Amino acid sequence: MSELNVAIDKCSRCHGRLCCNYITQWIATPRSKRDFEFLLWQLAHRGVRAYQDDEGWYLLFETRCSHLGDDGLCTIYDERPYICRDYDHDFCEHDEPAEKHFKRYFPDYNALLTYCRKRFKRWDG
Ligand code: SF4
Ligand code: SF4
Repeated sequence: MSELNVAIDKCSRCHGRLCCNYITQWIATPRSKRDFEFLLWQLAHRGVRAYQDDEGWYLLFETRCSHLGDDGLCTIYDERPYICRDYDHDFCEHDEPAEKHFKRYFPDYNALLTYCRKRFKRWDG
């Protein structure tokens, strides 16, 4: 079986095509109350999450790639962006959830608010 066919076979069993349904964006490490208030505003929006891993802080946007076809295959496979080419099909999020490597994970506004209240004694003051 070719490398492409192995990938297609594995991906066809990956419901939701995990790696084609979000983007991440590095952000400066939030430190002040004002930084976290800004982050709270961002997480108040549907589909926006945040996490911290060994490399820093990131926003995660749940959004389907416009090149993902209805059949679940990439419609621009031969000219897909570098980051898609570089993604390792052999050991991906289908094998191990990305969250496993997060130091902190804020799936929504309330999760981050709870963290802010613990981190800043006078958050509500
Ligand atoms: S997460 Fe892995 S199995 Fe799922 S679509 Fe992406 S490469 Fe394929
Ligand atoms: S360009 Fe293709 S491989 Fe890359 S995220 Fe979009 S659908 Fe997936």
